[in-house]
Amino acid sequence: MESLKELYRIGVGPSSSHTMAPSRAAHDFLQKYPKAAHYRVTLFASLAATGKGHLTDKAIEAAILPRSLEIVWKEEEELPLHPNGMLFEAFDDVKKRYGFWEVYSVGGGALMDKESSRSVCHLYPLTCMTDLLCYFHESGDSFWGYVETCEGKEIWDFLRTVWEIMKTSIERGLEREGILPGGLCLARKARSIHSRAKMLKTDMRSNGLIAAYAYAVSEENATKGTIVTAPTCGASGVLPAVLYYLFNTLNLSCFDILKALATAGLIGNLVKRNASISGAEVGCQGEVGTACAMAAAAATQLLGGSARQIEYAAEMGLEHHLGLTCDPVGGLVQIPCIERNAHAATRALSCCHFSLLSDGEHKISFDNVVSVMKETGQALPSLYRETSAGGLAKAYQAKKNAEKID
Ligand code: SF4
Repeated sequence: MESLKELYRIGVGPSSSHTMAPSRAAHDFLQKYPKAAHYRVTLFASLAATGKGHLTDKAIEAAILPRSLEIVWKEEEELPLHPNGMLFEAFDDVKKRYGFWEVYSVGGGALMDKESSRSVCHLYPLTCMTDLLCYFHESGDSFWGYVETCEGKEIWDFLRTVWEIMKTSIERGLEREGILPGGLCLARKARSIHSRAKMLKTDMRSNGLIAAYAYAVSEENATKGTIVTAPTCGASGVLPAVLYYLFNTLNLSCFDILKALATAGLIGNLVKRNASISGAEVGCQGEVGTACAMAAAAATQLLGGSARQIEYAAEMGLEHHLGLTCDPVGGLVQIPCIERNAHAATRALSCCHFSLLSDGEHKISFDNVVSVMKETGQALPSLYRETSAGGLAKAYQAKKNAEKID
């Protein structure tokens, strides 16, 4: 498993796989071939199907223009290693191709090509939950302690920056009002939910505040605000919402939150290593499901749970998102994504409470659920894996078409 620096990426939304990674790829290609007379970028499968709504073309244009650029969309074709494939090509002034790069956006802003898939830097010797729990039992170590052991003490500086960006994205999102871009005419809701929630009492207040925080980040993501992938842009509201809520209500220290971020990151890394965090590969269970597991684990640690209880909370967070499809309306990261982040954040806290009420014993392990999530994702038709060709996206389009005919 790689460093948490490869999981928590700071950048602008709306999509880690469809904007962040293609933008990085375009910059990298440009560095290698800075003097081409013409560039062509071909987007395949899911990247082509939802690239316009997710602003993939804008991300690539921002990197390459004003140089000569052509973007080709091939929704029906898929490259061999992943549904999010890209082909970058460089041409000279007699239109002869002299450079190309086949590269994949594999989720959470990460890039992979044939070379890099062989040269990943593995920092974590233990790569499944069963081995981790065994090690904790024998050594007395903890999730966050293991992160420090593998990454070194420098990881705390990085996680401090991550936490600062997460907090700022919530606070900025709570301030802003207006309509989200993209044509769905969706109004920002974080501010009004927050104002109402503050007047409530007990459980409704907690749920309202957590939802407001998740909306705030997800709305910032939808408007190209700076956020942290946790583990992706689309699912970036869940973990900050839970951490911000607990930070404020339990009077926690900054280091408590950093340790919770380390634990959550380790959970996200396990899913990334043993299944996938890419909506195009396994549907939304890999994005929002993973985010819920990360947040549930972090909350359980903050509330004093044991390693087994942390594992149980993470297991529930993922288990109860199994089969969740990715069918964003209009190819935008708005419906169902924003509301879904709020639901997953409140659910993460329920998973935490449930786990703390138990002794941590349960029959289906986190490792089992991760492997079932991968199997379920592979069985999902591509309609439900970030193509916007089925599900809610299709239903919304059918409704719009019917309205036009009327
Ligand atoms: S539905 Fe889920 S996986 Fe798909 S774009 Fe939205 S948040 Fe990402």
